[in-house]
Amino acid sequence: MKIADNKAVAIHYRVTTEGGELRDASQPNEPLWYLHGHDNIVPGLESALAGQRAGDGLTATLSPDEAYGQHDPELDLKIARTHFPDDMQDQLAPGLLFGGEHPDEPDIEIVYTVVALEGEHVLVTGNHPLAGETLVFEVSIAGVRDATPEEIEHGHTHGPDGHAEH
Ligand code: ZN
Repeated sequence: MKIADNKAVAIHYRVTTEGGELRDASQPNEPLWYLHGHDNIVPGLESALAGQRAGDGLTATLSPDEAYGQHDPELDLKIARTHFPDDMQDQLAPGLLFGGEHPDEPDIEIVYTVVALEGEHVLVTGNHPLAGETLVFEVSIAGVRDATPEEIEHGHTHGPDGHAEH
């Protein structure tokens, strides 16, 4: 079965910089399941995988636009500590993730990461940690099956057998 829209696909992957520095990888024996054609994975990788079959492998070098996007300086923000709710004050530390509105488009919620604490301010970024990087994806395809109607409706897969309690 070939990878196409509305197929559930399992992949093992390894992501490095062009210099060979490891950035991300799937766990051994735990492939990532994704739903093809639903923006579950970065666009360049989805294009590269179309038409492949279980057992195939590929290496794709993807520009930031094909991977996690360009680094957007407008999403690097310096926020007064007092803007954060009381129950977050003790948790403020580099690496903390929280949801917040996009600076230009308040209707869009994005994930921010705390980068550093600087006196009475908190430096945060709404950029993906791998934004702005050209990345090498080494992928092997572990499985391809038809997605269930429920998976297509949800826009994601429900693991190896297509069943999930939600
Ligand atoms: Zn679901």
